[in-house]
Amino acid sequence: MTARRCDIAILGGGLAGGLIALALARQRPDLSLLLVEQDDKLGGNHVWSFFGSDVRKAGRDLLAPLVVAAWPAYDVRFPAFERRLGTSYYAITSDRLDDAVRKALPVESILTGARVLACTAQTVSLVDGTRIEAGAVIDARGIRSQGHLTGGWQKFVGRRMKLAAPHGIERPIVMDAGVDQIDGFRFVYCLPFGPDEIFIEDTYYSDSPHIEPSTIEARIDDYVRAHGWQVIEVLGEEQGVLPVVAGGDFDAFWRSSGSGIAHAGGRAGLFHPVTSYSLPAAVRFALAVAARRDLAGDSLASFSENYARRQWEGGKFYRALSAMLFSAAVPHDRYRVLERFYRLDRGLIERFYAGRSTLADKFRVLAGRPPVPLGKAIGVLTGLGEKPQALTHASTRR
Ligand SMILES: Cc1cc2nc3c(=O)[nH]c(=O)nc-3n(C[C@H](O)[C@H](O)[C@H](O)COP(=O)(O)OP(=O)(O)OC[C@H]3O[C@@H](n4cnc5c(N)ncnc54)[C@H](O)[C@@H]3O)c2cc1C
Repeated sequence: MTARRCDIAILGGGLAGGLIALALARQRPDLSLLLVEQDDKLGGNHVWSFFGSDVRKAGRDLLAPLVVAAWPAYDVRFPAFERRLGTSYYAITSDRLDDAVRKALPVESILTGARVLACTAQTVSLVDGTRIEAGAVIDARGIRSQGHLTGGWQKFVGRRMKLAAPHGIERPIVMDAGVDQIDGFRFVYCLPFGPDEIFIEDTYYSDSPHIEPSTIEARIDDYVRAHGWQVIEVLGEEQGVLPVVAGGDFDAFWRSSGSGIAHAGGRAGLFHPVTSYSLPAAVRFALAVAARRDLAGDSLASFSENYARRQWEGGKFYRALSAMLFSAAVPHDRYRVLERFYRLDRGLIERFYAGRSTLADKFRVLAGRPPVPLGKAIGVLTGLGEKPQALTHASTRR
């Protein structure tokens, strides 16, 4: 049996684990780290995006080496209107995360092709029999169980493509909801990575986690054809099924991920309840860990639990909006909720995505006639209406 020792063992070299490793390498070069990832590559197979307003200066500095594309503004399109928002937008990729973490950490601090079997606050057992003793263990192996959460699903297939000629799209289209509304709220998301290179993702806010990639790929082909584009090469593809959370039992969720150990990322429930995006929360948590003096296993475990509980408590408003989307709106009319939202003030929209909505923002979002049946909206807001379904399954293939 091989034995390894380190100050901090980070389990899972995905988004959250990678960002914690980067933040600690910068802020605490005195610590020995061990980043343990089951795949050969760190970060999986993702394009991750974020708004400039999602993160503050320290977060932007942490993300800077990962950014592969940046745009000063983005567009949204709905049946009734279109809008350009002057909020900057960025994309990072798994390849770049892998590269940046390998540059920031000594080679002996990265253990890829290593699957974790079990862990405690200070020990880790790998499938190959290696035992790791650490000052602290942080479990960032992705979301484990959603059975204690309720809501719906955001599912998508995305394709990065090289076209025969320039596409003419200058900035991201974060939501093109002018497409047929199928399987709930559907929109297409476009990132122009170059004049003749585009990433197109077909997304559904659906009641079901079931995904049929070939059907969605065919719809991406239709979208491409409708714009008069011709694909000469598919450069990459990704898909995901993410929870959109309308309610749940935080304590049970935490216990099901493993008690007494520090958790990060999806495993800690650190994602936006409506968008399912975890990048802004992962950046904030990585910086919070790196700023701590006390990095002992037990202390870090209770810190992460308290941190995640505060986030959960602060997410009540967003969970109510998810409930509005899934319990109050008729599936093919769900787009109206977003259409109305996107008519609001830009600062409010930025704070919403960053998970920093003010009390005034919350009143503004809920004020006026809701774009869903009034009785159902009241039912959701008073908790007396139809209950959202339990999230019993999610899968992501990377
Ligand atoms: C395709 C896709 C696109 C997304 N796009 C965005 C986006 O644009 N913006 C955004 O904010 N969010 C996005 N999300 C949502 C969310 O941010 C991502 O899922 C994010 O990767 C979650 O981070 P994480 O670190 O919790 O999990 P992951 O990034 O999935 O990392 C977990 C890591 O743990 C490893 N692991 C698991 N089990 C073991 C084990 N037993 N031993 C060793 N290693 C293990 C996995 O291989 C993986 O690398 C996207 C999700 C998907 C699926």
